[in-house]
Amino acid sequence: MGSLQERIAGHLSALEADGLRRRLVPTDPAPHGTLRRGDATLLDFAGNDYLGLSAHPALVERAREWTSRLGTGSGASRLVSGTRTAHLDLEARIAAFKGTEAALLFASGWQANATILPALLRAAPGAMVFTDRLVHASMHAGCAAAGVRQARYRHNDLADLRARLSGKGADAPARIIMTESVFSMDGDLADIAALRAIADEHDAFLIVDEAHATGVLGPRGAGLAAGADVVMGTFSKAMGSFGAYVAASRDTCALLSNAGSGFVYSTAPPPPVLGAIDAALDLVPGMDAERAHIAALGEQLRAGLAKLGLDTRGSASPVVPAVIGEVEATMRIGEALAGRGFLAGTIRPPTVPKGTSRLRMTLRASHRSEDIQRLLEATSEAL
Ligand code: PMP
Repeated sequence: MGSLQERIAGHLSALEADGLRRRLVPTDPAPHGTLRRGDATLLDFAGNDYLGLSAHPALVERAREWTSRLGTGSGASRLVSGTRTAHLDLEARIAAFKGTEAALLFASGWQANATILPALLRAAPGAMVFTDRLVHASMHAGCAAAGVRQARYRHNDLADLRARLSGKGADAPARIIMTESVFSMDGDLADIAALRAIADEHDAFLIVDEAHATGVLGPRGAGLAAGADVVMGTFSKAMGSFGAYVAASRDTCALLSNAGSGFVYSTAPPPPVLGAIDAALDLVPGMDAERAHIAALGEQLRAGLAKLGLDTRGSASPVVPAVIGEVEATMRIGEALAGRGFLAGTIRPPTVPKGTSRLRMTLRASHRSEDIQRLLEATSEAL
């Protein structure tokens, strides 16, 4: 048995033995989309700053301006005294961007996802939830926090979803479907129009996570989830800063601002972050050329990886996986790529299912076609 400290050490040793212990390695931003790691300068194919906005002068400047005017912190939670005019103005802008009646800011995407479901369950006790098997951990956390009956349908398998909705789901007092529009580790897309039709057939609510779509896919970069009942997305990826939004009907947002514990009991997002989001909302709708460039790089990278015999899991977004399989080989190939000047994500269980460890290569508007070519050559050598 031993003390809790000894058990912690034992748990860490077990992770180490399986090659699953993670360590925090500093990678500091350097010019031209590179990162400094130790003595090495690596071209970043691991982050989610798809449009390179995190270093954009307009975001940096507006964050600075709003900080000068409003301070570094909001000082309280939204319902106490933390709501600034800037929060409400920004929420109105987000709703307009997403084409919904209303929107709410959240401190993070994780927090939004962990909050939405428990709040909805207050209004609809006994609701049953149908989640794509590959949805993000934060949505599973929301299901666990809500204590719901959860059915996990096979990834993007609409027949399986239909069968489950007609089976156990038919007796539930309400039904909720949860998916991502761009899957974070596979980079493939959900068919939102088809999910909307299924939701209508079964009188179900549709919740879509647009963390990896916001800014980079869909008309004006507004994502792919038009028509969903609740859309959440993050400002921490293509939007270049931090935090998240939920866009939905006025009533749904009012429910979340009353019963969403991650909203109610958390300090309001701070002015520098609000300023950066505001500037990103000015820029992103006009970045069609960057979005088209990223899409073309995606085609090039996927075609090249397929030639190397690697499975890219149906990716159709700036997230391009290359499945290696075993943990050890994945880590080794990731390090070999770093040795050649490229940082790709190395993703292993429990983030992805056992046996599907992978490189996760993400694209940025600053990448050039030559960079992809060199990345493919380096991957070929590393393999
Ligand atoms: N949903 C998805 C699909 C994500 O990939 C992430 C980020 N890892 C989140 C939610 C959480 O967002 P945040 O990083 O803002 O907490």
